[in-house]
Amino acid sequence: MKGVGYPQSAGPAFEEQKTLVVKDLVKHFPGGRTGLGIGAPKQWVRAVDGVSFDIAPGETLGLVGESGCGKSTIAKLILRLEDPTSGSIRFQGREVTDLKGQELKTYRRSVQAVFQDPYSSLSPRMRVHDIIAEGLRVHTDYSKSDIRVRVNDVLTLAGLSPDVGRLYPHEFSGGQRQRIAIAKALVLDTKMLVLDEAVSALDVSIRAQIITLLKDLQQELGIAYLYIGHDLATVAHLANRVMVMYLGRLLELDESVEFVRDPKHPYTKALFAAALPSNPDDVSDTSEQPNAEVPTALSPPTGCHFHPRCPDAREHCSTQFPEEVTLSGGRRISCHLYPSR
Ligand code: SF4
Repeated sequence: MKGVGYPQSAGPAFEEQKTLVVKDLVKHFPGGRTGLGIGAPKQWVRAVDGVSFDIAPGETLGLVGESGCGKSTIAKLILRLEDPTSGSIRFQGREVTDLKGQELKTYRRSVQAVFQDPYSSLSPRMRVHDIIAEGLRVHTDYSKSDIRVRVNDVLTLAGLSPDVGRLYPHEFSGGQRQRIAIAKALVLDTKMLVLDEAVSALDVSIRAQIITLLKDLQQELGIAYLYIGHDLATVAHLANRVMVMYLGRLLELDESVEFVRDPKHPYTKALFAAALPSNPDDVSDTSEQPNAEVPTALSPPTGCHFHPRCPDAREHCSTQFPEEVTLSGGRRISCHLYPSR
């Protein structure tokens, strides 16, 4: 059985069960003019083009795709670092795209981010205690001793000794710095973390430790995660569900185990082939990998944006954009191989 559109069960009751519900989110950036002169038509970079998804408390949604697919723009829109062109972002049932002043400040307490390079988000001139305490000083009226207790608590939660509060960021390894960044993100009343390539720069063994830490924290605190990465294998391991984007559009979304067992969209198959070659020693095994450069979101290909690189492309793929359908089992997919009727 197939259905069209998202979500199938929309409504207040549906939204109340979710930490975040994103509907038809669009972000277009001005990309100059198509010709010389002020009368020439404007061009637009379609960074995010009608994307819908949701995340429940205690759930991790993985978001993958190559550079330029729109995943970092999605992060900025959710963090309210950018305003959407159109669409809706509802957090715990409340629309957040129009929040201002104190309400926006309160929202930013609840939704925090951890980025790929913790060094850039940790001031080198501040001690770890002060870095983590900063959010409490800005957003709460905690006393000095309350702040010390809370900072010590989150350092312990992140697997660090409270003693490290007197040290500076340069005195830590990359994995420890990421633990500090996680402690900083958790120090307020955090309900959701946007993890933007948060383990991508770490060595494999350290990466595994941070993934375990994130899973343990989620189990203990019930926080929702949006994990953004380019490596589908790592994301599928960390996430409950995975969403694949290409040139601003959602191509496929399903449970992680289903992705690992049976990727269906030709682009997802190509990402998996790149992440998990059938023979690890065979570097020439590129049969399923995309066969051309990623086009620009300034002038995406007509029809299905993936058609110039798709090994399964049909004639109408270059002229008709595939409608999103929901397959039995709940997988959402946008591809003419899975028509709506
Ligand atoms: Fe390939 Fe056509 Fe599906 Fe696009 S719609 S992924 S071109 S088969």
